[in-house]
Amino acid sequence: MKKRLLMLALFCLFESSFAAGRNPNVIIFLADDLGYADVGVNGCKDIPTPHIDSIARNGVRFTDGYANHPVCSPSRAGLMSGMYQHRFGFEHNSGPERYASPNFGQPRSVPTVPEKLKAAGYATGMVGKWHIGFKEGLRPHERGFDYFFGFLSGARSYYPDSPRENDPLLRNGRIVKNEKDYLTDAFAREAVAFIECSKNKPYFLYFAFNAVHSPLEATKAYEARFPHITDPNRKTYAGMLSAMDEAVGRVLAKVRELGQEENTLIFFYSDNGGPTMETTSRNDPLRGYKGQVFEGGIRVPFLMQWKGVVPAGQTYGEMVMGFDCHATALAVAGVSLSNDEILDGVNLIPFVTGEQTGRPHDQLLWRVGWQHAVRAGDWKMVAVRGETFLFNLRDDIGEKNDLAAKEPAKLKELQAIYAAGDSQMMPAQWIRQDARNAEIGGKWKPGGAIGAPRRGGGLEEGSNDLTATVTAS
Ligand code: CA
Repeated sequence: MKKRLLMLALFCLFESSFAAGRNPNVIIFLADDLGYADVGVNGCKDIPTPHIDSIARNGVRFTDGYANHPVCSPSRAGLMSGMYQHRFGFEHNSGPERYASPNFGQPRSVPTVPEKLKAAGYATGMVGKWHIGFKEGLRPHERGFDYFFGFLSGARSYYPDSPRENDPLLRNGRIVKNEKDYLTDAFAREAVAFIECSKNKPYFLYFAFNAVHSPLEATKAYEARFPHITDPNRKTYAGMLSAMDEAVGRVLAKVRELGQEENTLIFFYSDNGGPTMETTSRNDPLRGYKGQVFEGGIRVPFLMQWKGVVPAGQTYGEMVMGFDCHATALAVAGVSLSNDEILDGVNLIPFVTGEQTGRPHDQLLWRVGWQHAVRAGDWKMVAVRGETFLFNLRDDIGEKNDLAAKEPAKLKELQAIYAAGDSQMMPAQWIRQDARNAEIGGKWKPGGAIGAPRRGGGLEEGSNDLTATVTAS
């Protein structure tokens, strides 16, 4: 405890040596595996999410907000890079660190949003799940964050001292040994402390939850909030979601306490859709789950507030995507791009203030090994293992009515849009590796195929043949 306080005090001392700035603060809450219908403003009835909902009430609810990818790691790379992550071959999850491909991670040649904001004078802090690089040079405190408290992999126990846990909690690259709090509570505590330390200059906080990803683990106190839920998995899930909502509330309260609401841009979204069978998460009325490019895998709760700048209580229906949070953060911080820098994200502020009409995006693309999708306006094409679907989401949000045979010209148009976009992308630089297809250290096991159904619906990604994975996409 003493050591923790000392480290935080040193960090505070360092931060307070800067002069106060006038650029707005930026906070991005990224939920993990939170389905479209898992928040009150999107129709969740049995688990209240008042703090998350308050972001929509005070700002904007995006009905057509998308994650960059239907699984965790590439989606987070899309946010951190501000672009389609498969521009740099980041197309698949890693698997556990000990089996991960040596290539895995966001390369240092692709800058992160905190690196850019730090150069503009921001204090930069992250709490939570990283999952876009394990190796030295690729970890959060080496990728632009002044302060990091969290873990590097894709999932871990919510109990810091769980004896089954291999993935350590880290603070700025050092293992944390004295943590006792339920993880979501610990993250909230650290996030609030970071804001307190950074209050005298513009700050960027990336609050990357592992909630509500499995394992299903909640404290008795959180579960006790839901006596009306009898299904034990749903009750635990409700506890996890309630803890996340409370963590969001603690951060929002801190911003309010400091009188910074009108100087703080806040986003909340989820890195992918819900794996319903695994966690009881809900994506309705959407089709599909985490891991799929049907809407249930990629369309997520997506909210934004900036009091005094963005009119409150809005519902915005044009497409937006995770990488737009990156572009918006840069815009409000006054960061300009160099000539050769690519950003697929768009500054959303002019669209939600009414200053700019039209759409942030005419089209969006997703590529996940053997499946891909493109949406242009109301039309969406989904291609899965050689089967191609065409939907009109205006009439068919549940993707039930395949129009591929009836509308061949429209299908051809979307295929051409996808092909043009995809021609700019890089082949996948790794596939997900675990004990089934890799040795410890990341070397492939020859012939070790995967492709088993996920418990949450959808499928694991690809086989361990990278060439086949790329070709199939
Ligand atoms: Ca996820």
